[in-house]
Amino acid sequence: MAHGLSEAGLDVIAFERGPWRDTAQDFPPTYAPDEYRYRVRHELFLRPAQMTFTFRNNASQTALPIRDWGAFMLGNGVGGGGLHWNAEMWRFEPSQFVLKTHLTERYGAKFLPAGMTIQDWGVTYDELEPHYDRFEYLCGTAGTAGNLKGVVQPGGNPFEGPRSRPYPTPAQKQPYSATLFAKAAREMGHQPFPQPSGNMSQPYTNPLGVTLGPCTFCGYCEWFGCGNYSKASPQTTILPALVKSRGFTARDNCEVLRITLDGAGKRATGVVFVDADGEEWEQPADLVLSCAFTPFNVQMLMLSGIGRIYDPATKRGVVGRNFTHQTVSTAQAFFDPKTVRFNPFIASGAIGMCIDDYNGDNFDHGPLGFVGGGYMGQVQTNGRPIETTPVPTGTPTWGAKWKAAVKENYNSSIYAGSGVHGCFYAYDDVFMDLDPTYKDRFGRPLVRMTIDFHENEHKMSAFLTDRYAEILRAMGATRVDKLPRTGHYNVTDYQTSHLCGGAVMGADPHSSVVNRYQQSWDVPNLFVIGASSFPQNAGYNPTTTVGALTYWTLDAIVNQYLKAPGPLVQA
Ligand SMILES: Cc1cc2nc3c(=O)[nH]c(=O)nc-3n(C[C@H](O)[C@H](O)[C@H](O)COP(=O)(O)OP(=O)(O)OC[C@H]3O[C@@H](n4cnc5c(N)ncnc54)[C@H](O)[C@@H]3O)c2cc1C
Ligand code: SF4
Repeated sequence: MAHGLSEAGLDVIAFERGPWRDTAQDFPPTYAPDEYRYRVRHELFLRPAQMTFTFRNNASQTALPIRDWGAFMLGNGVGGGGLHWNAEMWRFEPSQFVLKTHLTERYGAKFLPAGMTIQDWGVTYDELEPHYDRFEYLCGTAGTAGNLKGVVQPGGNPFEGPRSRPYPTPAQKQPYSATLFAKAAREMGHQPFPQPSGNMSQPYTNPLGVTLGPCTFCGYCEWFGCGNYSKASPQTTILPALVKSRGFTARDNCEVLRITLDGAGKRATGVVFVDADGEEWEQPADLVLSCAFTPFNVQMLMLSGIGRIYDPATKRGVVGRNFTHQTVSTAQAFFDPKTVRFNPFIASGAIGMCIDDYNGDNFDHGPLGFVGGGYMGQVQTNGRPIETTPVPTGTPTWGAKWKAAVKENYNSSIYAGSGVHGCFYAYDDVFMDLDPTYKDRFGRPLVRMTIDFHENEHKMSAFLTDRYAEILRAMGATRVDKLPRTGHYNVTDYQTSHLCGGAVMGADPHSSVVNRYQQSWDVPNLFVIGASSFPQNAGYNPTTTVGALTYWTLDAIVNQYLKAPGPLVQA
């Protein structure tokens, strides 16, 4: 966004509350693969002492502050979460963008669970396709096309929406575990394909002239910066071009506190920020873009008094509404170590083979009594020594028996990777608002998260995990321990960092915060960018869709808004 706007001739100032980060200085290969520093001590992430949230499962509980990150991680510093992500690069399926219409037409309105508040996005897959394409070519995405201009292609994902051209680079080479998964899945009648990956399969120079090198499968990818210039990130794809843009200024270690408004509250006049010395400043602006990630975009709107905060009792208000996450689950598979030897240390953040047969509405939900789905696969992300200790359920958690079980299973089990990546649809009792008790270090109320799974997600997770376990058994596993998502949402158990919603897009200001261009209905010179716009979350990782929406919005600002500033859609 900053690059596109400065190329269009605007003076752009980007604020980042964390530090400046560069590949050469911060992630040399001699230093980057430090599991304790990054995976255990979370050195790249936001510290809860800097900023946190309160959490509860439902409105009858008192929310308490999260004092250590568990369920999700928050980026902090130039590059944000895109610096330490895996780079699993999925497009959402076309029906996702018209989800409510699609499911109602196929199954009838009564099939949707009570309290489910899914809605159409206001933008379609076909409208986003050129912007998906642009983002994938920026990142050098490695993959095998499954649908080229409506023609299904061998070896790719047959369920994906039509793409206008192939991926910019071929799929990565696959490790043995993923190859075995694909073989078993194919023999069972599924349609496996390589996961689209932002870990480079070959050298690649993107349209901005920035070059990435091939991935060396170091296995220190998710949670880490890539010292090899091989993982698509802001540092490796766009920052080298952005810093040369004439009108661009970066202010790192500067935290925006609120957006300022004119007297009528209808126009943003700039932002108030605090610098590294704790001094407060005001930056005037003609156009404000909030790109702070889901809960922080929502917090920014709430603390700036923009839009009405959602009230679950009356169902009125929109800011904080339709908050979602992801329903992930897995199964551990153990093979005979005498005959099956994997090498989990050869890994990358997004390498793997997947199936999409049970995602979205790719299968008939009628007899199953739930909606939604997810992709599943064998994604070999790492065999790192601290994290990777595969033992069958029931093994003692320490001592000689535990050590013997780790030794026995390390090279002959499937335990890491994505497993099942289920969707999380929206409900009227899952939301964000402002906590009445707890405050941040600036004295502002913390965001309060109210989030839980519903019967629909439990049924879906049980079904998907069963299907996943069937494939693991067909691979020859001698033991499979299923771990479906059950019980309440747990804030200490990592479940991806894909927080979505809260400032959702739509066709109607009564059920959305931003219009189809991510433009605020209330303050037209404010655009709110990111997964906060998703009305519900699909069974995919979100960032490729965030990238596509960002280019879509950039296009609308440059070609429409700058020519005639004002609302791009009439309420
Ligand atoms: C470990 C991990 C693995 C992941 N893997 C994948 C994956 O494989 N595929 C995928 O699709 N997604 C993945 N994600 C998610 C992905 O990282 C996010 O979707 C993506 O980074 C969101 O981009 P964003 O620009 O909206 O937000 P961010 O990347 O979070 O950037 C927002 C930036 O704004 C800054 N900020 C926030 N508030 C303020 C403020 N008030 N003032 C100034 N600055 C502020 C933050 O410090 C941050 O740097 C992963 C995330 C994590 C943590
Ligand atoms: S696995 Fe590949 S892309 Fe990931 S950090 Fe290592 S070299 Fe970089």
